Amino acid sequence: MRDCIFCKIVNGELATDIIYEDNDFCCFKDINPKAPTHLLLIPKKHIPTLNDIAEEEYGVMGHLFMVAQHLSKKFDLPGYRLIVNVNPEGGQEVYHLHMHILGGRQMKSIFG
Ligand code: AMP
Ligand code: ZN
Repeated sequence: MRDCIFCKIVNGELATDIIYEDNDFCCFKDINPKAPTHLLLIPKKHIPTLNDIAEEEYGVMGHLFMVAQHLSKKFDLPGYRLIVNVNPEGGQEVYHLHMHILGGRQMKSIFG
């Protein structure tokens, strides 16, 4: 996707420290961190939102959670929060599917 900022990170057009990479995913630090550790985990393939994952591709999300677990160990996070914002109403700003991994501080209830 030509104008997608996260595709530019994946293909090296936008220099960014990649802290994890495999065939399907990569991870880098959020430019505007909301916690001491704030990572963004993305599929390399351009998928705009969670709603654009086809039923036969749902394994992507399972893999994403497993990589998040791996990264929590790598970054020594005993507890952490995973967030996927979907569409404007869900607060999504970048339309390339990503999972926020937040840790390093006490998270407060998001329901209170
Ligand atoms: P969301 O609101 O879920 O779409 O989150 C998008 C996130 O991408 C925000 O937390 C931004 O700070 C982050 N972000 C935007 N551009 C970059 C970039 N070039 N490198 C790292 N993080 C970025
Ligand atoms: Zn993209």
